[in-house]
Amino acid sequence: MAGFSYEGERLVLTEVDCGCGMEHGIPDMDIYIGNGILSRLAEYISRRSLGNNLVLITDNVVYDLAGRRAEKLLRDAGYNVTLCYLERDEPLHPNEAAIGEVLLTMEKDTDFFVSVGSGTLTDLARYTAMCAGKPFVSVGTAASMDGYTSVIAPLLHGSQKVNKPAGYPEVLVCDIDVMKTAPLEMMISGFGDVIGKYIAKADWILGRIVHDEPYCPACVELIDEALQRCTSSIDDIRNGTDEGVQRLIEGLILAGLTVLVIGHTRPVASMEHNMGHYWEMMKLQRGEDHPSHGTAVGVATGYVLQFYEHFLAADMDRVDLEAVKAERLTDELRNEQVRNAYGQHIGSRLLEQEGNGLISWPEQQRRLMTLRDNMDCIRRELAFLPSVEEVMAMYDRLGAPKAAADIGIDQGLLTNSLLYGKDYRPRYSVFHAAAEMGMLETWVNAVVTGH
Ligand SMILES: [Zn+2]
Ligand SMILES: [Zn+2]
Repeated sequence: MAGFSYEGERLVLTEVDCGCGMEHGIPDMDIYIGNGILSRLAEYISRRSLGNNLVLITDNVVYDLAGRRAEKLLRDAGYNVTLCYLERDEPLHPNEAAIGEVLLTMEKDTDFFVSVGSGTLTDLARYTAMCAGKPFVSVGTAASMDGYTSVIAPLLHGSQKVNKPAGYPEVLVCDIDVMKTAPLEMMISGFGDVIGKYIAKADWILGRIVHDEPYCPACVELIDEALQRCTSSIDDIRNGTDEGVQRLIEGLILAGLTVLVIGHTRPVASMEHNMGHYWEMMKLQRGEDHPSHGTAVGVATGYVLQFYEHFLAADMDRVDLEAVKAERLTDELRNEQVRNAYGQHIGSRLLEQEGNGLISWPEQQRRLMTLRDNMDCIRRELAFLPSVEEVMAMYDRLGAPKAAADIGIDQGLLTNSLLYGKDYRPRYSVFHAAAEMGMLETWVNAVVTGH
């Protein structure tokens, strides 16, 4: 139905054939993965005829790793390279200062941008290239997240996180020899971003069963492939072997491409991502450091799996419809809760999203009946979910953090993310199901206290 193959070191998605009824596109992007392929950067770029004048965006961390080499290779090949070297004492933030520096490096005759770096540098190039109406090329330096192929740039405006629509790179070069020199924490982050797909897939299946949400089996096949590549290579990833790094970046790229195939992030992001976003936004509001994206997603996944275990063990016949009806939230109370949890500004914005209001009682009843009638089928279809113990054992083997406290998330933030993560967007999840069953607080409490 869907898969990929290599033509030389070029990764090619095979035709998506699923009959799901949704429109699918294969992105027009050249993706190269292999050992030592940075040396062919100029050749890869020349195949796309992007012009001769480029701005190369990199920072002091990756310049020695790959930036200097990329710069020299491109100059030697005759490109006119203007270097945008972002120098920071602390980690580089994708904020207005960095974007300003990139734009100031650009000249009137700049033809395209090349980023050499991981998430932040790619997002800076993605956004400024889009603003300038120019293409860009990404040289990935770490298998740390699935966003190389993304069309959204998560940026910072002041201390507010903003997600700006942008474009994907025309050429993506992932040299395994470069990527394997990245610190283990970055690969742990990449691994967490992939492990989160278990939850995204489970919630999507739930949405399909409970209210006929459009569902694409070919995209799920790509996600399964991504999960399989990573979970079967844990020791290799930890040891930074060629094979481990290659399988991790392949998993991340397959997951990222799924978003382009289907046109939204349903296959790759659900509650585990919402929780990670919540932690990041709250840490930013407090002016504190936040865990990296994929590491947060990986830790959140453990909690959501625990939550799923309560849901899957629930006896739907014991749901008392009259009691659930009596305890239904009013719109006012729910809006107040969301604003309290996220802060006035973000909370109000979230509540304005289409479909993010409370559902009617008849609709809630219908969903509860559907859950009750389909619980056996749901348990069967979600049997692919690993147990919490299995995932914790993977994290132990990898050396990854497991608990919120390990990554600086206190119990208040953890509890709030479990209670209100679902309000980040209306996409149906097991947390919506639990809230509609009147079980959300009980199960969140059980997860947080470990009982
Ligand atoms: Zn992610
Ligand atoms: Zn499909």
